[in-house]
Amino acid sequence: MPDRARAKPSESERLGELDVLIVGAGFAGLYMLHRLRSAGLEAIAYEAGSGIGGTWFWNRYPGARCDIESIEYSYQFSEELQRDWEWSERYATQPEILRYVEHVAERFDLLPHVELNTRVNSATFDETTGRWSVETDRGVVSAQFCIMATGCLSSMNTPDFKGLDSFKGSWFHTGRWPHEGVDFTDQRVGMIGTGSSAIQSIPLIAQEASHLTVFQRTASYSVPAHNGPLDPERVREFKADIAGFRERNSQLPFGAGFKLNLAKALESTSEQRQSEYDERWATGGLGFVAAFSDLLIDREANDTAAKFLRQKIRETVKDAAVAELLSPDLVVGCKRLCVDTGYFETFNRPNVTLVDVSKAPIEEITRNGLRANGEEYELDAIVFATGFDAMTGALLSIDIRGRGGMTLREKWAEGPRTYLGLGVAGFPNFFTITGPGSPSVLSNMIPSIEQHVNWIADCVEYMREHDYACIEATEEAQDAWVAHVNEVANGTLFPTCNSWYLGANVPGKPRVFMPYLGFPPYVQKCNEVAEKGYEGFSLDSAG
Ligand SMILES: Cc1cc2nc3c(=O)[nH]c(=O)nc-3n(C[C@H](O)[C@H](O)[C@H](O)COP(=O)(O)OP(=O)(O)OC[C@H]3O[C@@H](n4cnc5c(N)ncnc54)[C@H](O)[C@@H]3O)c2cc1C
Repeated sequence: MPDRARAKPSESERLGELDVLIVGAGFAGLYMLHRLRSAGLEAIAYEAGSGIGGTWFWNRYPGARCDIESIEYSYQFSEELQRDWEWSERYATQPEILRYVEHVAERFDLLPHVELNTRVNSATFDETTGRWSVETDRGVVSAQFCIMATGCLSSMNTPDFKGLDSFKGSWFHTGRWPHEGVDFTDQRVGMIGTGSSAIQSIPLIAQEASHLTVFQRTASYSVPAHNGPLDPERVREFKADIAGFRERNSQLPFGAGFKLNLAKALESTSEQRQSEYDERWATGGLGFVAAFSDLLIDREANDTAAKFLRQKIRETVKDAAVAELLSPDLVVGCKRLCVDTGYFETFNRPNVTLVDVSKAPIEEITRNGLRANGEEYELDAIVFATGFDAMTGALLSIDIRGRGGMTLREKWAEGPRTYLGLGVAGFPNFFTITGPGSPSVLSNMIPSIEQHVNWIADCVEYMREHDYACIEATEEAQDAWVAHVNEVANGTLFPTCNSWYLGANVPGKPRVFMPYLGFPPYVQKCNEVAEKGYEGFSLDSAG
């Protein structure tokens, strides 16, 4: 038999010439796949993980759950799906969300079109053919469109600690938790970080470990989840008017049903403020940020909320010095507000110690633990809850080349620039789902994902109907959008602290405020752009 006949088919031969290649199979990649295949396009999704689900595949740490309520943190494209699926808790756990994603993939027959265990390393636009050439560790595939569903919080941030290799215990990152789980019984555990993932996992790890030492650089505000079984009455109301419920939430600033109080904190009496904050605290959840309309805009108004939250910490944590350390002096909300179950109470346990590393960073990981503040802490296990290289990390870890061989890394050397967080000038037929410059992480992300996917799918269908082969954001539209994103952010308190929204958690990352604030005006703008024949994009019938 001639050699050629025996050779394994290349990826392109095996998959054929694709219309669309999607990178990532989380909520975004899967729904993109569904929309495009339903429209008759040849599309596949490449996923680096050995399973689908993205965030909910990787983040299996103890206590991992959503902090947008389950009935809102779910797809709305199928009425039947919404009617059939039953969430068990107010805030679903990671295993339950993963079961949901797997159910959706099976129900809509998406799995045959997902290539697992396949990392995309590069994507290059060929100006002569007008197609993308995408390279994975399994071969090269050609597609007309390349869609990045790579996730805003999928690229881990693991600080480069000196000595990690010498540590004789085990270490974990919350964003890559072992599938078989970790048993911390009788172990001395060190937790590095006090953001959302740490706040969810600390109470559970503390119950198991012989001792838990929490190394804190910046204290976080957190409000109670008051999690529990989902109220059947709430489910009944939701199912009686699914469309109305979704529509009302889509008109709210974060695209989530936070009860918005239009009154201003600074125009309210101290009794009114106390009563509003008390009520929000008793309700629990992220709706706390919607307590007053000036809370995220005016520093003085924000201080009233900060005072309330700090008082709650003092009331909960018995040791006054520990309470003081746990009390943030930041603007409330400018770093992501956390939602917890027993976080502050955990510091009353005799087996939990808080170590302040704000003045001097952790010096090194040693063979037996870690050294901070000149002292060595002996540990059997270290948990890095150090977050993500948010919004741009996953995109920039792929070698993406547009017109003239220009790389996205070069293009974004000073920070990300996009048109609507959907397109990038110089990168034709290339879309990002919840990219920088879109509401993304400052919204309920599932509706944001669905809105992007619908917009992209409609755009691709429009191009087919009108015989366009190529679409690309113009530099002018992109510049105007970036200026607008900054102007909106600068009218608020969001850019006032060193948050991951700004890239401040990753050394060397340019400081640019990445998400767009305001879901409803954003959706309106996207709709207008489409209605005007994709205004701000150039469309071409040749590649
Ligand atoms: C612990 C945690 C809790 C969260 N809770 C909430 C919440 O309550 N509410 C909310 O709105 N949002 C929440 N988020 C944000 C969450 O990321 C989104 O809600 C949503 O799951 C994102 O879906 P996605 O498909 O866009 O991205 P992801 O779920 O991150 O999926 C992206 C996928 O792309 C894959 N990928 C990336 N690069 C490549 C490559 N080069 N090649 C192949 N595959 C690649 C990744 O492996 C990943 O599976 C949370 C995030 C975390 C980490």
